[in-house]
Amino acid sequence: MHLTPLGCLAGMPAGGLASSGYLVESSQTSVLLDAGPGIATRLSALQTRRLSAVFVSHEHTDHILDLLVIGKRLLADRLVREDENAPLCLDESVPRVPLLLPRGATAKLHTLASLYPVATHPLLDQAFELGFETHEYEPGETLAVGDLSLRIEQLRHVAPNCGVRLADAHSSLVYTGDTGVTDELVDLASGAGTLLAESTLRDTDTSGHGHLSSSDAARAADDAGVTELVLTHFSSPDPVQHRWHRDRAASVFDGPVGIARPGISHPVAAPRKVLA
Ligand SMILES: [Zn+2]
Repeated sequence: MHLTPLGCLAGMPAGGLASSGYLVESSQTSVLLDAGPGIATRLSALQTRRLSAVFVSHEHTDHILDLLVIGKRLLADRLVREDENAPLCLDESVPRVPLLLPRGATAKLHTLASLYPVATHPLLDQAFELGFETHEYEPGETLAVGDLSLRIEQLRHVAPNCGVRLADAHSSLVYTGDTGVTDELVDLASGAGTLLAESTLRDTDTSGHGHLSSSDAARAADDAGVTELVLTHFSSPDPVQHRWHRDRAASVFDGPVGIARPGISHPVAAPRKVLA
């Protein structure tokens, strides 16, 4: 598997960097993790195959706002007309893309799409019905997408947030979405190759909102025994801040610590060798 960050910021885009969105690709499968502002444009810049699925960690705008844009792109790929005066119709040979959502999200997304009707081409209003095939997951669920398994577990955030563990036969990647410190993250990441962890705060959260500091992320990586840690969801586009977080994490976790760099593909690490 390869990980390609498309954005790396908490909150809204800044300094030319997009919010949350990460492409994970195996030889057969492409899964987008979250779709915050700016992700649709970054995704369109990659010469990538059609997505196999989109996973949404939680319903905050920095993780979902580009879903409508991506859904309309996927829908447009399914529309054909026999000549330029003929009505648009669906090409049923192009499949819808599974959209894995937290419970209750589907109705809200349908409402969002309905706010912008296209009276002359009603098919264009139906990004979430015809571009995507929505599925509201349950924490604890494991899904198969192509040659990958996706294990979904609830972590700790002010909006219900699930992390996900993607695995193929060779490696595994765990993505936190947004979370505070929780044993559930260590359990989800146990023995994984790469932990892609949010690193929003300078110090451990005491507000109850639910974010990690780089030291928190490093302790989770250490406790879980992952091979490598990749930090993301920074509160600033300043690369000096990103390096500060990396150095702070590296003082806690003895494996490699990376910084999510949009557009730069990174092989997902194999699990650590356990010596008998
Ligand atoms: Zn966020």
